[in-house]
Amino acid sequence: MKTIPTITLNNGVDMPRIGYGVFQVPDAESEQAVTAALAAGYRSIDTAAVYGNEAGVGRALAASGLPREELFITSKAWIADLGFDETLAAYQASLEKLGLEYLDLYLIHWPAPATGLYLESWRALEALLAAGKVRAIGVSNFLPEHLQRILDVGNTVPAVNQVELHPALQQHDIQAFNAAHGIVTEAWSPLAQGAVLGEPAVTDIAVAHGRTPAQVILRWHLQQDRVVIPKSVTPARIAENLDILDFELAEDELAALDALERDGRTGPHPADFTG
Ligand code: NDP
Repeated sequence: MKTIPTITLNNGVDMPRIGYGVFQVPDAESEQAVTAALAAGYRSIDTAAVYGNEAGVGRALAASGLPREELFITSKAWIADLGFDETLAAYQASLEKLGLEYLDLYLIHWPAPATGLYLESWRALEALLAAGKVRAIGVSNFLPEHLQRILDVGNTVPAVNQVELHPALQQHDIQAFNAAHGIVTEAWSPLAQGAVLGEPAVTDIAVAHGRTPAQVILRWHLQQDRVVIPKSVTPARIAENLDILDFELAEDELAALDALERDGRTGPHPADFTG
């Protein structure tokens, strides 16, 4: 079984650099998908209340028989659950669906700044952390201006900012802000949901290394110090996406992938998304 490299978060907790995402995997299929991922060697699973599959993920975790401390489980508080009490209740509901006693990482899913509530949710995450109910807390889809407000009034620096990031949308401003404050950048839709896999720059590098386009892109992320959480329900791809530890892209290859930036956002914009 492969040893997946980890990154140490700003509170000393180690997080696997490659995880398995389950967005758009129906609950009924998520048990089988997560079971395949665990069998392939993944130990980090990224879910969210709004994905509606925490129960299926939990069934797979329980059936695996793996020791809890070998797993790294992330979930997220949805926009409708922003607010102090609401976020505490959402956390408890996620735990119960997952059948767990604690999460490794809990994130505010979107800042939804128009609601004016993400600072209240951050206070709730800080309370959960202080109570020992979660090992690390962070945010998702936060722009630097949202992070700055947390830095200004919060007591804890987020450990992670999970944002859309792939060769077509590299978010250099967010990556730089995260790095400057010791916040790990975690890439969601790291493969741009497949949209960049056919790019000649990607396929040429893949041929040169005898690898697949997805492996080349995931390797590009790893060599730029990001955490990745690719999703697939296809067992061969699940395994392929983890098999990226024994080759290295050269500087000119990294630069060729950097050159694919085209503001190619696939999801909503965090400034105005309200769910
Ligand atoms: P990804 O970039 O991971 O792409 C998933 C798509 O790529 C699927 O269609 C999958 O197909 C295909 N694919 C996966 N591996 C390969 C491969 N090796 N070769 C060819 N095609 C492949 O997109 P996601 O949007 O799912 O993002 C990943 C995770 O990020 C999510 O599951 C979720 O956990 C998280 N996320 C978080 C968000 C947030 O707001 N915080 C928003 C969106 C995602 P198939 O499954 O058919 O094999």
